[in-house]
Amino acid sequence: MKVAFIGLGVMGYPMAGHLQKAGYDVCVYNRTTEKAKKWQAEFSGAFAQTPAEAANDCDIVFCCVGNDDDLKQVVLGEQGILAGMPSGSILVDHTTASAEIAVELAAIAEKNGQYFLDAPVSGGQAGAENGILTVMVGGDEAVFAKVEPVMATFARFSQLMGPVGSGQLAKMVNQICFVNTVQGLAEGLNFAKKAGLDTDKLLDTIGKGAAGSWQMDNRGKTMCANEFDFGFAVDWVRKDLAIAFNEAEKLGADLTATKQIDGYYQEIQEAGGNRWDTSSLISRFKK
Ligand code: NAP
Repeated sequence: MKVAFIGLGVMGYPMAGHLQKAGYDVCVYNRTTEKAKKWQAEFSGAFAQTPAEAANDCDIVFCCVGNDDDLKQVVLGEQGILAGMPSGSILVDHTTASAEIAVELAAIAEKNGQYFLDAPVSGGQAGAENGILTVMVGGDEAVFAKVEPVMATFARFSQLMGPVGSGQLAKMVNQICFVNTVQGLAEGLNFAKKAGLDTDKLLDTIGKGAAGSWQMDNRGKTMCANEFDFGFAVDWVRKDLAIAFNEAEKLGADLTATKQIDGYYQEIQEAGGNRWDTSSLISRFKK
């Protein structure tokens, strides 16, 4: 099977590497060609000069870029993915983007006889590097069935959530739940410090009870140590929350607490923490 991967960022670079290591014939494209050359030197696949060239002759094209605008450029441009993808082939988009763009791109692909799945991921840089991402997918069941075993090279769990756009909607829920968990943890740990509790002992204890979470287990101690260099950046989460707010308005869904937390992330950006990871919510309490 011939596959392509477009966008060798923090996430795409290792994801494409897992595909190549699993024995697929991978051709990559990255806007900054140096990264594509580096990838080829590491994994010995091929690289192309345009998305269309990479997608040419492929059965499946994976894509992971920044946001809706980036996605439009790499998918719909004159030298974009759809211009190169053969009829009958599948575009799997791992970008965290809006459900609207997923529906728009799927409709255009369908007119060309191509298929589209929106497939945002969760698990961060470590999940991508270790090949243990979770993938939330929107699209057709038969198309998903073809792609699932290939995605398994970099994902430990994939779920078809429903029609095109459902993957992005599921990712929005993921982000809403996740930031509220981080904020709860930040408030709790700030309280613990003020109360003079031993936070190591505290986390080891309450982490085993009803308040336990992945965030508590993996970020509790680093948050107490003011270490915020663990990948998923404040700039990215605000991009994701903006997508969720837009969708919530259409749905009439209340995101009052999430909006407040978004304001806290804005404060962190204004203090220069754009690239800090999302656990940096605790830094606000140091003022
Ligand atoms: P990143 O490191 O900034 O990489 C973005 C990639 O997209 C780069 O390869 C970049 O090319 C390419 N790109 C951006 N705009 C482009 C354009 N207009 N034309 C062509 N290529 C373009 O981002 P990332 O951390 O891998 O994240 C990618 C996506 O996954 C985002 O939607 C993010 O929200 C989502 N995500 C990230 C994480 C995480 O922990 N990082 C976790 C879950 C989901 P250049 O190299 O030329 O800049």
